[in-house]
Amino acid sequence: MNVLIVFAHPDPRSLNAALRDVAVAELTAAGHAVQVSDLYAMRFKAEVDRDDFPLLAPADRLKVPGASKAAFTAGALTADVVAEQQKLLWADVLILQFPLWWFTMPAILKGWVDRVFAYGFAYGVGEHSEARWGDRYGEGTFAGRRAMVITTTGGWAEHYSARGVNGPMDDLLFPINHGILFYPGYDVLPAHVVHRADRLDAAGFEAAAEGLRERMRTIATTPPIPYRRQNGGDYLISGCELRPDLGDPGARGFALHVGRAPATAEAAAPTRPAA
Ligand code: FAD
Repeated sequence: MNVLIVFAHPDPRSLNAALRDVAVAELTAAGHAVQVSDLYAMRFKAEVDRDDFPLLAPADRLKVPGASKAAFTAGALTADVVAEQQKLLWADVLILQFPLWWFTMPAILKGWVDRVFAYGFAYGVGEHSEARWGDRYGEGTFAGRRAMVITTTGGWAEHYSARGVNGPMDDLLFPINHGILFYPGYDVLPAHVVHRADRLDAAGFEAAAEGLRERMRTIATTPPIPYRRQNGGDYLISGCELRPDLGDPGARGFALHVGRAPATAEAAAPTRPAA
């Protein structure tokens, strides 16, 4: 498979960089082709602004979704954005790797998403009518491909547990896993999280590295999180609300959007033929 790692850490000697190298080595040894977008090393521009839309007349107000759609349709997005989109189309698997900063991804990676996931490419895809709310949440440009997060935290695992003070890690990562990755179609694998990273010693690093190697060895077969597909029948098309007969009575919040896992690992296997 082709694997793209989008990596966000400012220091090439960091723990995250060392873990990235572990992932690349394991994937390469297994015969996968790997590309890395090292956003700080690339000095990737993180802000969306007028410079992203050369077709926009100076007198026109910048309305980002419209400008993004026009530029994507005209093939007029900037070269750095197009290069990242080409890598995404090449990749069967997308990995986002970052240290958890303020309970989410570093700004440079969010900026990469804002700029690269353009209108018509990652959103605004498919038929929008009274009968259908586009191809999203399990459908869209990246349907049949896989994606996952690798992240490190300063905090303890317990602080991110179901009753932990930081909130459950699955909830904190929901906007990334569901909102950024599942939205344009990826099958999203559970995140690989290394906790208490600031205090990691050599033994801790080896344990973290071995856990990561195992995740890389099983990247093609790990069952994805069984998020409900928007157009799979679980949601009422008017309003895109979950059908009243689904989910635990009284349940609310992110967990409602996770359905039942398929019965077999085969049912969870990637649907896209190898490139
Ligand atoms: P580094 O600082 O590079 O390394 C961490 C430790 O790993 C060091 O002690 C290093 O010696 C050791 N190490 C062991 N083996 C190796 C090796 N082979 N190579 C390199 N290092 C090794 N944490 C939270 O839990 N929640 C938050 O919301 C949060 N917000 C933050 C916001 C900001 C702005 C910042 C700066 C930090 C925040 N943190 C938070 C902490 C952050 O998540 C950790 O600092 C980060 O995950 C550590 O990863 P790193 O790659 O930067 O580690």
